[in-house]
Amino acid sequence: MKIAKFGGSSMSHETQFRKVRSIVLADPARKVIVVSALGKRTADDDKVTDLLYLIYAYLQHQVDWTPLWQRVTERFIQVRDLLELDFSIEEQLAEIEYQLKQKKVTLDYLVSRGEYLTAQLMAVYLDYSFADASQLIFFDHEGEIDFQQTSQAVQQKYQETQAIVVPGFYGVNPAGKEKLLGRGGSDITGSILANVLQAESYENWTDVSGIMMADPRIIDSPKVIEEISFRELREMAYMGANVLHESAIFPVQEADIPIHIKNTNRPQDHGTKISNHEVEKENGLTGIAGRKDFLSITLFKRHMSDEIGFIWKAMSIFAKHGISIEHIPSGIDNIGVIVSAEAIADKLFLITKELKEKLGVEEIEVIEDLALISVVGGPHKELIGLSGKVLSILNQLEIRTSVLSQGAQELNLIIGVANDQYETVVKGIYEGMVKTCVAQTPNGLTSNS
Ligand code: ASP
Repeated sequence: MKIAKFGGSSMSHETQFRKVRSIVLADPARKVIVVSALGKRTADDDKVTDLLYLIYAYLQHQVDWTPLWQRVTERFIQVRDLLELDFSIEEQLAEIEYQLKQKKVTLDYLVSRGEYLTAQLMAVYLDYSFADASQLIFFDHEGEIDFQQTSQAVQQKYQETQAIVVPGFYGVNPAGKEKLLGRGGSDITGSILANVLQAESYENWTDVSGIMMADPRIIDSPKVIEEISFRELREMAYMGANVLHESAIFPVQEADIPIHIKNTNRPQDHGTKISNHEVEKENGLTGIAGRKDFLSITLFKRHMSDEIGFIWKAMSIFAKHGISIEHIPSGIDNIGVIVSAEAIADKLFLITKELKEKLGVEEIEVIEDLALISVVGGPHKELIGLSGKVLSILNQLEIRTSVLSQGAQELNLIIGVANDQYETVVKGIYEGMVKTCVAQTPNGLTSNS
């Protein structure tokens, strides 16, 4: 049995509903379907979820919310009509409108209605049963998922009815009220269901054909990563590659269930498979991700390396000021501390002062406008070749790196360059490693693979 989750872009209008139906019916293992709320039909359209957030804000500020609500209702009615479904969505809409007029709605109730209504339409269209997330996904008093209660409820439901559509994005708190999982939370719903039902796989259907090897805003049509491990994905996501909701990873990783990212608009494409398995990659490269706007603070002190607890004391000063540390590249008598420029902005002066006064740091060098690029590699034996290639590319590009660090698990190589060289370096590494991955042709010439 597979869990198939369809995001907002897969549910944006009637034509997308038709694609989803043919995908679901093409594989009888697709028994549990999770949906997001109707998404954007065009780039400048609104997601139903965003409209609902806005309606709530209008309601709080006594602004007339009815025109926005009208837009929401029209969208649901239009999908129902175009699909010719025998379903009175008007009744459901009237109930929500009544609650709005009474000012009885909570934010979580109102916003979750996008998924609630979308799932009902999809259930009728697929001829599956609708299973409300407020009967399945339970939060505990700490606001965490209560896996035991959730597991019991989901398994019972699945035994009764083996073809269900579940609205993503919310569950229910111990007081019986709807509670959201946070933006993009339908990914988490799918992942929880996969865990508790021990699904064979968790399919996450979206509008791209998988995770790309590099940012498509920098690289024109980058290659899709066909297989990636959860650990590699974490490296990519941490450094800015935005694919799945982060909290959606843990429940499936723990249960050893693979995630398959697929494109609703191009179901024939392979997509990306994410699992605990690490596969060898061409040239040892999994992907390149990065972020701008870091700051590097290098601390120098003679015989620092002989002083027990120096790093710990230095880190405590950052911790005391609530600064999270991204990397600590170190030398013999110096250590670098890399932090987000925004986070440290107001505290830099105080922190450097304390480092000098309390720890006797002799010199502090601050490098601003730093971008970090993470070159993520596959199984670590391949990383040996990877580092060499990356360094020779940087050399050819004549780029000065102010940080160069390899993670202890040898999964990635972090390079720090000036913000304004970020794009050039990402392009250089991608082109140097992916496009020049060449095959010998019979006449001895080479061609791009
Ligand atoms: N519709 C919600 C959002 O836009 C949840 C989701 O799509 O996962 O954040």
